[in-house]
Amino acid sequence: MNVDNPWFLFALLGSLGLFHLELAADFLNLSRLPGADSAGTQDQKQEIERLVGYNTAVTKAGIVRSSISLGLLLAFWFCGGFGWLDAWTRSSGWDAAGTGVLLVAVLGAVQSVLALPFDVWDTFGIEARFGFNRSTPATFIADHVKGLVLSAVIGLPVVWLVVWFFATQPLAALYAWLSVVAAGVLMSWLAPRLIMPWFLKFEPLREGPLRDAILAMARRLEFPVSEVSVVDGSRRSSKANAFFAGFGRNKRIAIFDTLVSAHPADEIVAVLAHEIGHFKRRHVVWLMLAGFAQMAVIFVLLHVALRSPSLFVAFGVREMSPGMGLVLCMIIFRPLSTLLDVGQLALSRRFEFEADAFAADATGTASSLAGALKKLSHDQLSHPSPHPFYVRLHLSHPPVAERLRALESRGAPDETRA
Ligand SMILES: [Zn+2]
Repeated sequence: MNVDNPWFLFALLGSLGLFHLELAADFLNLSRLPGADSAGTQDQKQEIERLVGYNTAVTKAGIVRSSISLGLLLAFWFCGGFGWLDAWTRSSGWDAAGTGVLLVAVLGAVQSVLALPFDVWDTFGIEARFGFNRSTPATFIADHVKGLVLSAVIGLPVVWLVVWFFATQPLAALYAWLSVVAAGVLMSWLAPRLIMPWFLKFEPLREGPLRDAILAMARRLEFPVSEVSVVDGSRRSSKANAFFAGFGRNKRIAIFDTLVSAHPADEIVAVLAHEIGHFKRRHVVWLMLAGFAQMAVIFVLLHVALRSPSLFVAFGVREMSPGMGLVLCMIIFRPLSTLLDVGQLALSRRFEFEADAFAADATGTASSLAGALKKLSHDQLSHPSPHPFYVRLHLSHPPVAERLRALESRGAPDETRA
């Protein structure tokens, strides 16, 4: 044990601290689930039991997953795994950037294999038991393979570039940050065009009142829509969703088929007005900038850490190298980025309220969106009143009850479809 090595202490206490912080948030959150005695009728009682059962199962699975992953990290670390891995990747004889990519690729592959049983349990155990899962084993496997291919094709070149900068350039942190920013912008452009169609099937929404209502709303809001598509979300899950994608003049609205089948037209239009609100208020851009700012902090810390031999000593690695440094920094800074995320999540929750208000103005009533939110949250067995600590730590969306209150406080709600 290197208890006099500050990196060692920081990494160990940080990992243990983050684990316990998340554990506390989980338990606090579970303690706020409604009790069965708060139900009046037998039906309500059954509904509450389902809600409590689902939230408890998801939380428990998450705790088991993070306990095992922390245990494996500590075991690997204290058994000299990082030193061994470093020596093994160096034996490839590749240069610093190549060795760094090999290291990240091996760790990434091992991580996804280890995560697989948990992913299987989430999908075919929990989601299936509560009637959400629609994914077949074939779709599940195909999704995982595609995910791995994508991270290899997109992620590894970025890793190569970042490690190469840190191996050769004095201003590496700046260059690395600029290339990650460029990759992020490129990805947001590529995602709706190349990546999403690889996972989801987009089909034009049928001519009819729903399509007319969506296009009329988009025209009223001066939001140039080139395409309204329905996406086959039902192939994976019964949970409903909507999103829109695309920059510039080519905006593409996509609605999950599960949303179309479960909600009346006015609610779907309200949900889309909310999405357009995100765009009109530039929320997407602001969140992206916040992410880039956070990345700048991490790269500056990486710059400092890579010059510190004791960082490597703390993990039992004999020689300094930018690739291994990058991996060690990811372990060390994970608790820190969780704290930085708290700010970004708060911003995101504020944007949700703004987009809700935008949708209420755009559709002339708060009740359509309120109806959609109530139904979505009910159908997805969302926690009705998550603990404020859990909200701050994890949630990008405010609790539905708060969103409904904010919508109601915008003046007399339209009672026509109560
Ligand atoms: Zn939103």
